[in-house]
Amino acid sequence: MNIILLGPPGAGKGTQARRLVEERGMVQLSTGDMLRDARSSGTEMGKRVAAVMDRGELVTDEIVIGLIAEKLEQGAEGGFIFDGFPRTLAQADALGELLASKGQKLDAVIEMRVDDEVLVARITARSTCGGCGEVYNDQTKPIPADGKCTKCGGTEFKRRADDNEESLRQRLMEYYKKTSPLIGYYYAKGQLSAVDGLAEIEAVAAEINAVLDKG
Ligand SMILES: [Zn+2]
Repeated sequence: MNIILLGPPGAGKGTQARRLVEERGMVQLSTGDMLRDARSSGTEMGKRVAAVMDRGELVTDEIVIGLIAEKLEQGAEGGFIFDGFPRTLAQADALGELLASKGQKLDAVIEMRVDDEVLVARITARSTCGGCGEVYNDQTKPIPADGKCTKCGGTEFKRRADDNEESLRQRLMEYYKKTSPLIGYYYAKGQLSAVDGLAEIEAVAAEINAVLDKG
């Protein structure tokens, strides 16, 4: 079973992907991870990736498709989760063609639907403990009044630089401009299912499981 998780940054795609990897033996194909792996692999493709990145250029769709092709050939018992790719309609077409050429298909595209304003408020409220990485949230799980991490007792907390509101809004705009057309694209193909990305993690998981089990 091959699926795409679609949704803006902060919608919880990573959390759900990790769960699917653990519970269903799926393999998560994240573009960033694939590029890092390729670099250190020393394969022909890896050398090309390294050369492009070392020149400070953007990795082309063709290269990413090539990396995905390698992974598809290795296979995965539970199937693949595409994470961060496709991001554009051209990439969606390319992925469809690649899967078809390997005798595979996309089984589901899951849109993690969120309300932008709620998402921005939720993400900018996040901070993590500098000692143990425990995640706090001003609204739902504030840092204790004594200023000490409940897990490790640490007193230093960090907010991720890219969690600040302006950069988050920029990434959201990028998503709406380039990636959200994929929602219409997959809807038209009858492959789209939407889940409430702002629900509790367990509730989102149950919704996603229902989509996958409907198969
Ligand atoms: Zn801590």
